[in-house]
Amino acid sequence: MQVNDFLSSLNNVGGTLSYVGETTLGESIPMLSKGKGRGGVLLIGSTHAREYITSYLLRDLFEEYQGDYPIDLIPMLNIDGVRLCIGGLNALTLKLRDRITLMRINGGSTDFSTWKANVRGVDLNVNTDAKWGEGQGNLTYPSPQSYVGPCPFSEVESYAIKRVIDEGNYSLIVCYHSKGEEVYYGFSNNHKYRAEASMVANKLGYKLKRTPKSTGGIKDYFTHSTGRLGLTIEVGSDKLEHPITLERLDELKEKHRGIIDLYAEIAKKLWTKYDLCDSP
Ligand SMILES: [Zn+2]
Repeated sequence: MQVNDFLSSLNNVGGTLSYVGETTLGESIPMLSKGKGRGGVLLIGSTHAREYITSYLLRDLFEEYQGDYPIDLIPMLNIDGVRLCIGGLNALTLKLRDRITLMRINGGSTDFSTWKANVRGVDLNVNTDAKWGEGQGNLTYPSPQSYVGPCPFSEVESYAIKRVIDEGNYSLIVCYHSKGEEVYYGFSNNHKYRAEASMVANKLGYKLKRTPKSTGGIKDYFTHSTGRLGLTIEVGSDKLEHPITLERLDELKEKHRGIIDLYAEIAKKLWTKYDLCDSP
């Protein structure tokens, strides 16, 4: 019920609601849009199931955003995974065979509260073709986390994101995860927008870091395919347990208030730089 309530609430936060694809279990993946013009910012929440606090945080920040600069928000990419994490196997309509498979992937347990993957046991943040399968900790078999999938973009959720990124011509994308209070930027040997990334880290009071051992992520794909700035934000103190519950929402909102305006400002400035340096 909690996820249904969340999805219905998206009708009441302003902006235009559209759908960018379907999940593995056939649920439409919503996107909210505000503003008009070239470039724009794409925000993505709940790529990892247990990090569903990011959906609520992004929804509420989006509701408060009053600017003209274009912002697209996909608040809950991994809807099936979030349902599984919050409600367990009974939250999903599954054949008996698929229930058994999921339990087996989950080490025989019916507790899915720390599950990160989609319902095929593929981690959506290692499933793109940005040096796919070359990351530290990547797994080659279905798992609650870190399985890269049978090939890049094997999952309908990853493919939906690829299409949004390829067609969106965004200036900046920001992927929300939990936890650790960190801002990750760059990919492989491209770290040229450090100054802009550090503006975000400074505003949030988070540490700025590179991700030399991570590949196949969504920000990796954007950085790799466009040469532009992609960020991964890890919200919430490392002292908190997974999943971070909604009791923490207010303090996170307090910390992030106005951050979308900063994303808009950075994206606008970067657009000029991209035109000069990268001729996209
Ligand atoms: Zn994550």
